[in-house]
Amino acid sequence: MKVEKRMKIDDLGCWRRTHYSAEITPELDGKEVILLGWVRDIRDLGGIRFIILQDREGTVQITVPRDEADEQTLKKTGLLQRQYCIGVKGVVRAMAKAPRGVEVLPKKVKILAVAKQPLPIDVTGRTPADIDVRLDARVLDLRRDENQAIFRIRHKILEAVRTFLSKKGFLEVHTPKIIASATEGGAALFPIAYFEREAFLAQSPQLYKEQLTMDFEKVYEIGPTFRAEKSHTRRHLTEFISIDIEEAFATADDVMKVAEELMHHVCRVVKENCQKELKVLKHTVEVPSLPFKRITYDEIIEELRGGGFKIEWGEDIPTAAYRHLGKVHPYFYFITEWPTRLKPFYIKPKDDDPERSEGFDLMWHWIEIASGGTRVHDKKLLIRRLKEQGLHPESFKYHLQTFDYGMPPHAGWAIGLERLVMIHTGRKNIREVVFYPRDRFRLTP
Ligand code: ATP
Repeated sequence: MKVEKRMKIDDLGCWRRTHYSAEITPELDGKEVILLGWVRDIRDLGGIRFIILQDREGTVQITVPRDEADEQTLKKTGLLQRQYCIGVKGVVRAMAKAPRGVEVLPKKVKILAVAKQPLPIDVTGRTPADIDVRLDARVLDLRRDENQAIFRIRHKILEAVRTFLSKKGFLEVHTPKIIASATEGGAALFPIAYFEREAFLAQSPQLYKEQLTMDFEKVYEIGPTFRAEKSHTRRHLTEFISIDIEEAFATADDVMKVAEELMHHVCRVVKENCQKELKVLKHTVEVPSLPFKRITYDEIIEELRGGGFKIEWGEDIPTAAYRHLGKVHPYFYFITEWPTRLKPFYIKPKDDDPERSEGFDLMWHWIEIASGGTRVHDKKLLIRRLKEQGLHPESFKYHLQTFDYGMPPHAGWAIGLERLVMIHTGRKNIREVVFYPRDRFRLTP
């Protein structure tokens, strides 16, 4: 790295970007511009040096003709290596042969930071790398076109969710992520040292969002959720973002409508606004028709038996069976009326058939996107359900207390943001849609 040590790093000084790369069009012919970004590629072709400058909006070609460029610019561009952070002041030239029919002829180049060579991954994507190698060099990896597209779609999805829920009258809330006791039982909790006590990372905002319906009626939260998941699959993380809603004076049916309308809205927003990104990802998004199919757990079990899966009533559905369901029911559908014993204690058993619950899952092909239901709002029943699930009502003292102050009937759901992004970007591994994924084996970077 001798070269880098000796290399003079320039100041940004008074240089400010005049245009993003994508804004450089042939119509700007003759205009002086300042571009800031990274060197994506360099090619020396006989008498001309081509530098591809990348910024968050795309790329533009910087062309250095040896016989036209001044000595300073020739020298400076000769020092450049891939992924150096640079500034270019130059003049736009319409040029049919250049990418997008335009190039920039530099008058002055600044090197703002160097990049250690050889790079751990090829940002152009010409030499593909394994996901673990890419995640180890995540900041570089995120400069790849696919990642620029994925995280823009993710941003659009979040924006669409917030706009939709706000319009529906839901108030955005934030609940504690450091908690004193388990939400649904202790197995999936991460314990942490909290001064002289033990505390846990929240595995769901469930109990707090239920409580907040007592004051704000319709609430939503988009926040981190922690699960000590041992299962190392392509759709599980130990830290993920959960989109939660909870609504007072509502049942499962009401919140299922909110969920399907939200899915419809998000698909439409992505389809209408992210064509450029979808093209990069070679993916398409269809806007689903409403309402989604509602299939009871009993019907699903029957269907699976017909497909050769022997599942007893009351058993959970194994992954292989879900994959079969995904073929029979492409796109979105609900599985309703789950056996009460398969659902957490806060899901309401049906009044006329307590073995079955008012809990539902929202599916996309074979993947669970959301789960929700009508909640138990009767304190006595909640205590009974806690005991039935082997939990100690004493550990839920503060939560149970809130039921003494007029807990309204309520319902809600939780959608995993990353799974939502997976289906809108066509990614098969959940790690692809998280900036810095956390799983059983990955805690860095
Ligand atoms: P699964 O059966 O797929 O493990 P779950 O039943 O444990 O999911 P819930 O506790 O109902 O999931 O969480 C609600 C939603 O949060 C899920 O539908 C899913 O979209 C998302 N989710 C749950 N666990 C994870 C995880 N470990 N990683 C990423 N997303 C998750």
